[in-house]
Parts: sequence; structure tokens; C-alpha cells
Amino acid sequence: MARTSTSAAALRASPAPAPARVPIADTSNLYLFSIDYEDVRGELVGGWRNADRLPDTTARLLRFLHAHDVTATFFVSGETARAHPDLIRKIISAGHEIGCHGWRHVPMERYQPAQFKDDIAKSLECLYRAGARRVAGFRAPYLSFTERCAWAYDVLAELKFVYSSSVLPGRNPLYGWSGFGDAVKSVSGVVELPVSVISFSGVSLPFASGACFRTLPWVLLRAIFARRRNDGRPLIGYFHPQDIDTEQAKIRYAEYGHVGNFVLRCNRRHVLERIGAIFNGGWRAMPYSDFVERHLCADDR
Ligand SMILES: [Zn+2]
Repeated sequence: MARTSTSAAALRASPAPAPARVPIADTSNLYLFSIDYEDVRGELVGGWRNADRLPDTTARLLRFLHAHDVTATFFVSGETARAHPDLIRKIISAGHEIGCHGWRHVPMERYQPAQFKDDIAKSLECLYRAGARRVAGFRAPYLSFTERCAWAYDVLAELKFVYSSSVLPGRNPLYGWSGFGDAVKSVSGVVELPVSVISFSGVSLPFASGACFRTLPWVLLRAIFARRRNDGRPLIGYFHPQDIDTEQAKIRYAEYGHVGNFVLRCNRRHVLERIGAIFNGGWRAMPYSDFVERHLCADDR
């Protein structure tokens, strides 16, 4: 695929695309489970000198998902697909969907539209070269879509993406789009599936995701899942290969202080056990593109 460029001025001049609600069919007990697949070494003190843990964590994840009869979506960064096409092929062979997780793992605030489009086009090349058949979905690194970069939906539409799952609908110390709301919406013709959140003291937490599975009390997590079982929308959450990595040497994230590093490291040994308990409790999963195809009311998209 040829690299393309988009006129930043033209994109900025046009009004910000407005989200429009998309009705969805019944989704009881549906947990849209995903893996944000990047090589974490790029964010660690010591960087690429740390051991490459992806072969091991990928094998463990694939065994776990197979054992629970779960098919998921892996949002893969282009850089990781270029470095590990063998691992991407294994993920595809196991029946999982491949989505795009940007090129390098950087938040959207660092992008201008033209550079974003170039990076995503470059990522798509690597994903297709690694064997992906149809890359329909996008997840922004750090869930960093906010009202300030709504132009990104126009770029995704140009690149033929069908859906995105890049919004944390609320206030959060990292990123968040409070005005988006937690319903599935269409923006510039791209379906946005915001991650599921729960609010504590004005902070929205993505409870169906890795950091919360490690830090929230298990009894609380189970109660939240039970309450959301039949509320007519899927649960949407994400994990990382490193969330389950108990073998990694003592590591430290360069961008975070003591609290952030604790949250990103603690309780890794409990994560698979807790996810397993959720699936054993009757929650089902499917790749995001299957959900968009089967559960959204097509006339309203
Ligand atoms: Zn990520």
C-alpha cells in the first residue's frame, strides 16, 4: 500500500465530526475481550536492552484463550508486526482478529493528521504483510482519542476502517473524552466502541481491563460484572501481553512515578485466573468486527 498524505489544513478547517448514537441488538453477557499488542520495552527504563517477552506471553495468551474457547481482537502496533510477523501469524492461525494499534506506541496528542495517516498506512502494510486478511478496526495507543483529535475519524474513514475502540468516556488521569458518553456511536461513518468504565470520585476507570483486574479487589470486580450482565450493551476492555508476565525482571516504566509503576506491575499472577473466572461465569466473547457486523443495526450505522 502506498504511503499517502492528508492536508492537515483541510482537516483542521472542517468542523469536528459529531458522534451519533448507534442502536445495538441484544448483548447480554457479551464481553468484547481484546489484547493491545505492543512491545512494552520501548517504554521501559533500559528500553530495548530488556528481554523480549512477547514470544512467551503470546504463547500463554493463546493457550489460555483456546482453553476458554474465546476468540478475541488483537490490536497490533505496526512496529511490533514488523518485528514479529511469526507471532502475528500464530495469532491469526488461532482464529483471532487483527486490528491496528498505531505504528509506534505514542498518544494521539503528538500527531498531526498527515503524519497520523502516514503512520497508520505504514502499519497496515506491516499487518497485511504478516498475514492479516482484513484490518477493520483501530485502537489508539493509551485510548487517547479525545474531542481534540476527532479529526482522526476522518483519517480512519479514508483508510477504510469500519470501527474504532479508542475512547475512554470519562475523566481519567491519562486521557478521557467526558462528553462522548458510554454508548456506541458513529463518527464520520466509523463506529466507535468506547471502553466500559465505572466512576469513583469523579475518575472513570476502565474496569474490564488489565490495570483494574490487577488493582481492584476481586469481590468488587465480580460485583461490577454481575451488575452489567444484562444492561443491553457489551462490556469492552483490553489487556496487554505484559499484564500476565510474571517472569519479567524487575522493570520500571520511564514515564511514570512510583504509583504508576506499582499499578502497571502489581498482581500479574492473578490476571489469567480472574479472566478465566469471568468466562467460566457465563460471559462470552467475539472479535470486535463480528460484533459490529452482527449486533449493530445496519440502517443506523
Ligand atoms: Zn497499547
